[in-house]
Amino acid sequence: MTRDPRYDVLFEPVRIGPLTAKNRFYQVPHCTGLGWLRPRMVAALRGVKAEGGWGVVCTEYCSIHPSSDDLPHPYASLWDQGDIKAHSLMTELVHEHGSLAGAELWVGGSRTANLFTNEVAMDVASMPNTVGIPYQARAMDKADIRELRRWHKNAALRAKAAGFDIVYVYATHHYLLSHFLSAQTNTRTDEYGGSLENRVRLVRELIEETKDAVGDTCAIAVRFSADAGIGADGNPLVAEQREMLEILAELPDLWDININDYSQEMGVSRFVKEGSLEAHMSWVKSITSKPVVSVGRFTSPDTMVSQVNRGIVDFIGAARPSIADPFLPKKIEEGRIDEIRECIGCNICYTGDSKATPIRCTQNPTISEEWRRGWHPENIAPRGSDSTVLVVGAGPAGLEATRALGRRGYQVLLAEAEQTLGGRVTRESSLPGLGEWARVRNYRVHAIQSMPNVDVYLDNRMQAEDVLAIEADHIVIATGARWQADGRGLFNQTPLTELGPPTQVFTPDDIMAGRLPAGPTLIYDDDHYYMGSVIAEHLRARDIPVTLVTPQTMVSAWGKHTSEQALIHRRMLEAGVELITAYGLSSFNGQTATIECIYSGNSKSIDVEAVVTVTMRAPDDTLFRELQQRLESGVEHSPVSLSRIGDCEAPSIIAGAVFAGHRYARELDTEVDPDNRIKYDRVFFESE
Ligand code: ADP
Ligand code: SF4
Repeated sequence: MTRDPRYDVLFEPVRIGPLTAKNRFYQVPHCTGLGWLRPRMVAALRGVKAEGGWGVVCTEYCSIHPSSDDLPHPYASLWDQGDIKAHSLMTELVHEHGSLAGAELWVGGSRTANLFTNEVAMDVASMPNTVGIPYQARAMDKADIRELRRWHKNAALRAKAAGFDIVYVYATHHYLLSHFLSAQTNTRTDEYGGSLENRVRLVRELIEETKDAVGDTCAIAVRFSADAGIGADGNPLVAEQREMLEILAELPDLWDININDYSQEMGVSRFVKEGSLEAHMSWVKSITSKPVVSVGRFTSPDTMVSQVNRGIVDFIGAARPSIADPFLPKKIEEGRIDEIRECIGCNICYTGDSKATPIRCTQNPTISEEWRRGWHPENIAPRGSDSTVLVVGAGPAGLEATRALGRRGYQVLLAEAEQTLGGRVTRESSLPGLGEWARVRNYRVHAIQSMPNVDVYLDNRMQAEDVLAIEADHIVIATGARWQADGRGLFNQTPLTELGPPTQVFTPDDIMAGRLPAGPTLIYDDDHYYMGSVIAEHLRARDIPVTLVTPQTMVSAWGKHTSEQALIHRRMLEAGVELITAYGLSSFNGQTATIECIYSGNSKSIDVEAVVTVTMRAPDDTLFRELQQRLESGVEHSPVSLSRIGDCEAPSIIAGAVFAGHRYARELDTEVDPDNRIKYDRVFFESE
């Protein structure tokens, strides 16, 4: 297939200082949960992006000195010779595909408590750690500033030695340099504080010195915020940022523009849609002649072309779209738009950084597995036998298993009880704000439709004898899970003795199936992610009074790892949901719910007509167990294997189900050492 000429502009080379990027696809710096801890995994991950056509591929935030140490959040580092060697792994792979490699040099300031290195944090002034760690940063004196400039220059030289083409001065995201720029945080009275020119001084010096140090062969990029927050009138505060940009406009070779509010910049799709930064940063290109990159969770090539043609950006910046589909540029280039695996905006990828674990993605189960499992996002080994496979259940686990098995060339039969495919994804994507989640189903259904070796049977609830009658060589059960209605969960470890009558107790499955309470409702959220709040929003949209009770000390507590907790809390307030935190549910008798403080044990009564329990799910594994028993007692045509995957094995997030389906398909007919399933990327470089 060939490229649609409408998209030609995306494949134009663009000059960045002394270099030229081969196209406009720019993977901006993004966290991976790997950093300096897992050099081979991160190198392979970035290399695959270059292979997929990204013209520029950057690191995550890359510390210039041990006084910027963000552990447990895994950052990259350029402290010494060992780091140079580690990064060379990445730059070599990126260069193999004709792409440019960028290093985002980073100074943490009061964000970093340096819990790993035990260095004293420094910032523009003495101030508390910005993430609440009880360590305060010391105010930098002039000697500190001179040291910082030396460290930055040396890190730039190390970046060049590691083979990087683009070196960043990182002046945003509430790290040290943004504190120098801000009139609020910069309280200095020397030549680095006070007037706007003074506050810009350090950033200007760093740009100039980085250019002097490595600008002969490297391009210098500046990451900069287009606003300083939202003003009292609800509009972005741009005046000072504009003046600063005017001062610095022509100094770097490229501007990487984002906004002050991180939860919007990388907002979940429930609250923030594609291209949302445009309103904040569209003025930037009128100030500078240098190329501009910005993000916006772009997955539509038409939106990308529109941004370029209207002069908003020169490069299409992407973190999440490049995670969900590292081959997005190649697919546009080859006219395979309908094969793009579009990001759903769930931010599970971001939890890698916040939980200090390798990045995972709901749409792309191969991310982080490129090196340690040898998984490629587009390529998969041909089938290992002529076996036939029966997949029961077409939720994310069953669909992904079917897709990947189909790609391997197996004869696959997919049986689904409902009249529609997608399982929980189809159900949940009808809830408020979650529409884009349907992309998990759509991508896989589209792929399966064109596979002659895959047969799909809808409206087919399989019993054990139906399964066995098919005589498939391999049977994989992906029948999912159902929300429980007995109150058991994290807080109540046994079912509640008084919870009823059943007609007044609901689960998220009931709500999604259209069975709704009639009057005032208590939602009991002992799940702590999105579901409780989404159900609350759904009921409020129908004017049902809602009280949301959770044993956690904040609403949707786990949502802080996906950077949506504050947005959820705000949405609950806007929707008129009454919030009660740090209380567990003790009983409900049809008129009154009794809740108990998790600290004091004191009880409170709330008069409600209904309770929705958002607690835990029960695996729907009856079919699996029946089959297990039948096989143990012996059947005429015994399959080679019987397996279960996804929520019917262990309920988890959608990403977990997709991963399970993918792994099943990858591992079929392969030798897997059950004791050592993955290669372990221990740090292995000498520091000298
Ligand atoms: P997962 O997240 O593990 O993929 P889901 O709950 O999303 O699980 O999907 C499970 C799917 O399995 C649902 O679409 C459900 O209708 C289907 N299913 C459950 N039991 C059967 C059965 N006996 N036969 C066929 N399909 C089934
Ligand atoms: Fe997009 Fe979710 Fe994947 Fe992140 S985890 S890239 S938000 S689909």
